[in-house]
Amino acid sequence: MDQKLSITDLPINGKKVLMRVDFNVPVDERGHITDDSRIQAAIPSIKYVLDQGGALILMSHFGRPKGRVDSKYSLRPCAERLSELLHIPVKLAPNCIGKEVEQLAASLKPGQILMLENLRFHKGEEHPHEEPEFAKQLASLADFYVDEAFGAAHRMHASVCDITAYFPKRSAAGFLMQKEISFLGNTLLQPKRPFIALIGGAKISTKLGVVKALLGRVNHLLIGGGMSYTFLKAQQIPIGDSIYEEDLLEDARMILEESKQECTQLVLPVDLVVADKIGPDAKTLIVDVSEGIPNGFQGVDIGPKTLALYKNILMEGKTIFWNGPVGVFECPPFAQGTYEIAQFLGTIPATTIVGGGDSIAAIHQAHVADKIAHLSTGGGASLEFIEQGSLPGIDALSNKQDLNNGNFS
Ligand code: AMP
Repeated sequence: MDQKLSITDLPINGKKVLMRVDFNVPVDERGHITDDSRIQAAIPSIKYVLDQGGALILMSHFGRPKGRVDSKYSLRPCAERLSELLHIPVKLAPNCIGKEVEQLAASLKPGQILMLENLRFHKGEEHPHEEPEFAKQLASLADFYVDEAFGAAHRMHASVCDITAYFPKRSAAGFLMQKEISFLGNTLLQPKRPFIALIGGAKISTKLGVVKALLGRVNHLLIGGGMSYTFLKAQQIPIGDSIYEEDLLEDARMILEESKQECTQLVLPVDLVVADKIGPDAKTLIVDVSEGIPNGFQGVDIGPKTLALYKNILMEGKTIFWNGPVGVFECPPFAQGTYEIAQFLGTIPATTIVGGGDSIAAIHQAHVADKIAHLSTGGGASLEFIEQGSLPGIDALSNKQDLNNGNFS
């Protein structure tokens, strides 16, 4: 991949920087932020711009207001939280484009921050071809563009892709974005071997692309979670009431077949925790996969033999990628497998990259985040990056080599 222009390449002093961040934070029913990690993660790039004497305009999406103004999806809580974290005012604009916003941006002084209102209040964000002027209007607010929203880099949205056309040789990656590119683009594309992937989660359908892409690239591909049952059913193993995807049985069969030709060893659970329902008072059993799951029960976690097997394989890994829980992790009695995997990854010396909200939550619960080389901030984006080797939002950024001897004029 071409080396992308970095925020540190930009002559920021006295200029305005438009930064795309991902402040799509989780909120409770009263609209209070329950986890501000995404805001915290952007702070190094935010501070850098301010310390360099730049004026900063932040833009983000939040929720799914579907192109209409909806106060429920206002970025006000994010602007307030950012202000608390930085101990400086963060003014929230009433919109993200238009005369008033242009005036606010024009009067912004070095060291000040203006946060634009939710990009998705405009149709042009998610459907740039329907409102082609949207990206241009956003771009008119600043001298430079910085992308710090890795979690949105797989989307061909106006603030991620189209906007860079208005910042030729001036579209740079922020620190967080650079870290993602480095780990997903370099570490995973040129991995130290053995390279092992553990893919869990509910469905094959959402991870089919990445599973196929990893076949032939990793030495071992360990499968866990709800998606296991489609693979088991595809081999005529009784799965009781476990979730599976009927329309993906053929794909599962093909993957199993292909894995015999490839250098990748595809590994499925050998035993399972099964339950008569999802809930804390469920009746549970441990069954060997060779016996199948009895009717009236569904698979909810990997069993102890599988855990031991997966740990043994992971122990050999020099590079590890993990995405997706291996059980119904939200329900404490079924979280054991996922939790123990997280804990174990914190004890081994491999370069480990973890993506996806549930897997990252498990890493935090196991208190091993500082032992993990990289926690990817974008679940879907990291999977697409692995699948395709890049993302539209990264490709759209300026290349370092396009700069003529660092000359911006
Ligand atoms: P994903 O977003 O694809 O990574 O899927 C995460 C979801 O998978 C979580 O909500 C888990 O509860 C769910 N999941 C994992 N294992 C199972 C299982 N055996 N049965 C049902 N859901 C599962």
